Amino acid sequence: MRSGTVVLVLALAGCTPFAGPAAKTSATAARTSAAVTTVPASTPTAVPSPVVITPPAATSAAASSPAVPTSSVAVRTSVAPGIGRVPAASAPVVVLDPGHNGGNASHPSIINAPVPDGDGGTKACNTTGTATNAGYPEHAFTWDMALRVRALLTAAGVRVVLSRPSDTGVGPCVDIRGRLGGRVGAAAFVGIHGDGAPATGRGFHVITSSLDPAGAAVAARSSALAHAVRDAMTAVEPVSNYLGAQGLDARHDLAGLNLSTVPAIYIECGNMRNATDAALMASGAGRAALARRLASGILAFLGR
Ligand code: ZN
Repeated sequence: MRSGTVVLVLALAGCTPFAGPAAKTSATAARTSAAVTTVPASTPTAVPSPVVITPPAATSAAASSPAVPTSSVAVRTSVAPGIGRVPAASAPVVVLDPGHNGGNASHPSIINAPVPDGDGGTKACNTTGTATNAGYPEHAFTWDMALRVRALLTAAGVRVVLSRPSDTGVGPCVDIRGRLGGRVGAAAFVGIHGDGAPATGRGFHVITSSLDPAGAAVAARSSALAHAVRDAMTAVEPVSNYLGAQGLDARHDLAGLNLSTVPAIYIECGNMRNATDAALMASGAGRAALARRLASGILAFLGR
């Protein structure tokens, strides 16, 4: 099994676009994937949507009430009285976008398909993500983090939308993820990642788009979100010693940020190839601490 382990690590190496060749069917597969995730709100379908909306625990949605159905965004705005309790309209929505997905590595034709990058070009639909040297994958880390942060935010009365419903699927593509905040009227979009940098690099950094894609006002709010999260995270993890400045970085190549019409950040919570960061990120206690600080930063941005 040793050789199999080596292959897996190589396939997951780097939080960068998957390097394998795209299959002939990749474009069709990507289009299908996009169609699944962009079903118009007025057209409910049996195809599961990646969008999961969690009502805030502190609203009138009693714990004993049926959960708001998770089949599509449409549910949030069209659910009939008596079927589910719609979260308070005044509660802010936060999109949490756990990077990558557990099925990506086994579906290269889908995740290698080109999609708009928001900078006039294209990039891969999605990537496999990185992993610790011991094999703890980034997609599992981001998924666990998203669930922890969701619980903390919902307890604070925030509605949370996840960009994927599980850690066993494929995609969605980065352009779909990036547009999700606008689709659901989010106050903030937070992409959660772990980096795969050289082992000497340690620490977290928060990324915004350098393109100001949605205009100066949204860019200013993205910057405010980045600062709030950066300030909160330093209580549990040092700022990056290998990228950005003071825990902040700006990039033009991230579709998930370029295509957002709402305040948006990515956070690389640490370097999964660094032994100290990996130990923190691979432990439940470490992720709990990271999640508490990330949620705290988001709530500070929201003024809650
Ligand atoms: Zn990543």
